[in-house]
Amino acid sequence: MKKIIAGNWKMNAGGQDGCDLIQQLVDGASEAALSKAELIVCPPSLNIVPVKTIIGSASISIGGQDCSEHDSGAYTGQISAGMLKEAGCEYVILGHSERRQYQEESDELIATKAIPAHEKGLITIICVGETEEERGAGKAQSVVAEQLKKSVPDCTTAKNTIIAYEPVWAIGTGKTASAEDVQEMHAFIHQELKNRFPDGAEISILYGGSVKPANAGELLALPHVDGALVGGASLKADQFLGIIDAI
Ligand code: PEP
Repeated sequence: MKKIIAGNWKMNAGGQDGCDLIQQLVDGASEAALSKAELIVCPPSLNIVPVKTIIGSASISIGGQDCSEHDSGAYTGQISAGMLKEAGCEYVILGHSERRQYQEESDELIATKAIPAHEKGLITIICVGETEEERGAGKAQSVVAEQLKKSVPDCTTAKNTIIAYEPVWAIGTGKTASAEDVQEMHAFIHQELKNRFPDGAEISILYGGSVKPANAGELLALPHVDGALVGGASLKADQFLGIIDAI
């Protein structure tokens, strides 16, 4: 099966720099690379339409970085799942640890956002992951189990949802979880999803946290690691494409 490699541009590459980046990806992604991986880019909302236009018929999909739990109305500053869909998105990231931390998003809110996203036909990439303190206290699995239970809604299927395991301490820090820890957590998440959903065993699980070409080969070869959610390295075309080459 193809690996899923999703780039989260965060609040970067929002203008011409994002257009240049996607042009480099379109030009640089060879047939061979695209046969090994499904590529997704998640630009800042303002750049979704320009990026989509540059992608044209190339096999690169687009996702939003968040969406509202509401369909429309007086919610200043928010963007609905329907708007993302209309702009050309197929995916939306929900519950990224930066939103959990800076916007104080709860598990319950994340599940509430996933429902309209699914209704509008978006595939949600729901992020879970423990902090360094929680791992140090031996609570990594219980924290992730709780996040899965509360932030992944009952309407989840293998077709409408991807889970991203992103240990918070590995995001943007250059620290990567060991292959052993990643393998153990992905097996745990796989089992939790299998226990809860009829097709839970087929739900893809991505790893995220300082993935780069140098460590992608080892991480992406682990059982139940179906791809990667990439932050920093998705902002440089050679590094993002290098991750695919490492598969
Ligand atoms: C992320 O923000 O989802 C992420 C994984 O970032 P980085 O690759 O920079 O650690």
